[in-house]
Amino acid sequence: MTSVKTDVKEIGLYINGEYVPASNKNTFDVMNPATQELIARVSEATEEDVDRACRVARDAFENGPWRRMTVQERAAKLRKMADIILERKEEIARYDAMDVGKPYEATVGHEVARAAHNIRFFADFVEKQGGETYPMGEEYINYTRYEPVGVAALITPWNVPFMLTTWKLGPCLAGGNTAVIKPAENTPLSVSLLGEIAKEAGIPDGVVNVVQGQGSVVGNALSTHPEVDLISFTGSTATGKRILKSGADTLKKVSFELGGKAANIIFEDADLEKAVPGSIRAAFMNSGQVCLAGSRILVQRSIFNEFLEKFKEAAMALKVGDPQEKGTDMGPLVSEDHYNKVTSYLEIAKEEGAELVCGGKRPELPEYLYKGFYLEPTVYISNNPKSRICQEEIFGPVVTLIPFDTEEEALQIANDTDYGLNGVVWTENLQRAHRISHHVRAGTIWVNCWFVRDLRAPFGGFKKSGIGREGGHHSMEFFTEAKNICIALK
Ligand code: NAD
Repeated sequence: MTSVKTDVKEIGLYINGEYVPASNKNTFDVMNPATQELIARVSEATEEDVDRACRVARDAFENGPWRRMTVQERAAKLRKMADIILERKEEIARYDAMDVGKPYEATVGHEVARAAHNIRFFADFVEKQGGETYPMGEEYINYTRYEPVGVAALITPWNVPFMLTTWKLGPCLAGGNTAVIKPAENTPLSVSLLGEIAKEAGIPDGVVNVVQGQGSVVGNALSTHPEVDLISFTGSTATGKRILKSGADTLKKVSFELGGKAANIIFEDADLEKAVPGSIRAAFMNSGQVCLAGSRILVQRSIFNEFLEKFKEAAMALKVGDPQEKGTDMGPLVSEDHYNKVTSYLEIAKEEGAELVCGGKRPELPEYLYKGFYLEPTVYISNNPKSRICQEEIFGPVVTLIPFDTEEEALQIANDTDYGLNGVVWTENLQRAHRISHHVRAGTIWVNCWFVRDLRAPFGGFKKSGIGREGGHHSMEFFTEAKNICIALK
């Protein structure tokens, strides 16, 4: 299968268990970034539609059966939902490949499987979750209950549309909340299926709603809506700030997973057989459109040239092409706007005196991909860690190698950023691995690996990379209210 023309999909909003058009019948177009072909026309929600979705979700929360079910009943429906996701995995992955431009093979094999796991994991989690009792002698019994918060707005980005949404929807539903999902406007296809998948799994109407459209309209209407109790948001730091402000008047509970600019530190004692392919993955997976990308590659000077040669060779060997085709490592960037943003850094790098090692231009591609937003894996060397290409989140296949001499210097450069989502360290020295892990100011540190996730573990950012944590009981704490009950026994 290649990115040849497909039927243009018509996608509605999903409110109260059915697809509906926008109240003003407006739609927006979605393009395939590999070809610029029109792939979908999607209903564009108005503030009125968002209001309706929020009221429906409120009614389902207050008056519906969802939060009153036993956890076993809820968990069974969530497991069914996970099964349906797996049954429909080709369709979901095809959608993500089509509107994000991410390689289909990796999406179907990894991301969709992880999406199903996200739902199943939280079904299992709530079934096992208990509360606490606090012994108070003969006079009182004192215990906790974990109750749902209410209506959750789940606002998600375009780089991993389906998987990231389920990472929020799993704990949201497991906790007994209802949801209004707002997918990114670039990539609405796969997430639009979540409402109907929930319905097929037996989840009551109104519990899962999906409203599509622009962030400034639909996202903003959710962030200010009085019926929304909590917002789980993944996206840029700039949007996080806006949501925090717009949610302030109604004092919404927030969880933010924001941008990153991770240091990927290669020490002279690293095993380059692992560090080079690991760093290539960290740099160019999903065309570098990953919040966890290891885009600042700090390399100890004694091995700098050796690492550089191997890294360059591996970067140039990546197969850039049609995301739908087998064997493609890297697809296009998600949109023309994003392509323009990423490629503007090529000019900035030149002005800042960074040395171009490879890439920096469009790859040679077959004719049908001429209009795609492609950029070769691009590698710079910079001796200026304070420069914009070393400080700003480029969110594309553009990375910078920065030499360092000592461990102290590596740490100083690694921490000299507003972000703190994650860090990566390559070393064969155990003490150094721990030392660096303790001192890098970031929410996740990977040593001799990258992007290994255990869903029980906390995930989130220090500094401007986020507020709160997702994963295991961290997610459940966000999506529930702890209630303490104290009863006099006499
Ligand atoms: P974005 O902030 O532009 O958009 C994210 C979502 O917010 C979209 O659905 C968008 O429509 C919505 N939005 C935009 N303006 C809004 C507003 N005023 N009010 C409410 N919602 C609004 O981010 P993006 O470009 O879609 O995604 C890329 C960013 O996401 C990068 O910064 C990346 O690092 C970050 N990200 C972080 C994680 C993480 O786990 N920390 C994961 C993936 C992506």
